[in-house]
Amino acid sequence: MKEQLTIALSKGRILKETLPLLAAADIVPAEDIFSSRKLIFDTNHPHIKLVVIRATDVPTYVEYGGADMGVAGKDVLMEHGGEGLYEPLDLEIACCRLMVAGMKDAEPVIGRMKVATKFVNVTREYFARQGAQVDIIKLYGAMELAPIMGLADRIVDIVDTGNTLRANGLEPMEHIADISSRFVVGQPSMKMKHRQIQPLLDKLAAAIEAKREEKSA
Ligand code: AMP
Repeated sequence: MKEQLTIALSKGRILKETLPLLAAADIVPAEDIFSSRKLIFDTNHPHIKLVVIRATDVPTYVEYGGADMGVAGKDVLMEHGGEGLYEPLDLEIACCRLMVAGMKDAEPVIGRMKVATKFVNVTREYFARQGAQVDIIKLYGAMELAPIMGLADRIVDIVDTGNTLRANGLEPMEHIADISSRFVVGQPSMKMKHRQIQPLLDKLAAAIEAKREEKSA
């Protein structure tokens, strides 16, 4: 008998790019995720279920075994710390950059810099590595507003096209990390359910490779 497998998916923009990859690996939800308010979805495989949750909760679910596997942005994984997780695959989707940004043509900050972000841990480590002591202000959204309102000198945020920054009079200043979505597996699940998880990883890896070849053709 096959053991139950649960995959935690980040809702939002990552989900739109994740589902075609899962489909290419022959995992298809039994109903339309986007038009449903459900949190748990059956798939075309009786033993595989999908749960759709906030991106920041995916590593926590997988770490504690609430889900066997998951899909999460590298930004979220860096902020979580990655304890208890294997990260076997870069899905090469939802690519963007984690950057320091500030008001366009801002003066250098004299004294202790105030940095607004939802990535508190990543930000602390980034500036500590540079030997800079900063005050970190935790926000949950609309980081761009903080420098405009004088709440912070800089922000640390995800940048894709840069349109959000530009539309608010900000500019990217320092690159912290390239970000893409990763497939993660809980360490106990990898051990206990390896026989079922490994073929799934192989299929996903083939789907990523096929997509990469299609792009470069
Ligand atoms: P952009 O205006 O294209 O630079 O997009 C920036 C905004 O979109 C940021 O405020 C992010 O919150 C969000 N964003 C863009 N790409 C991603 C991604 N791959 N994952 C999560 N959020 C993203």
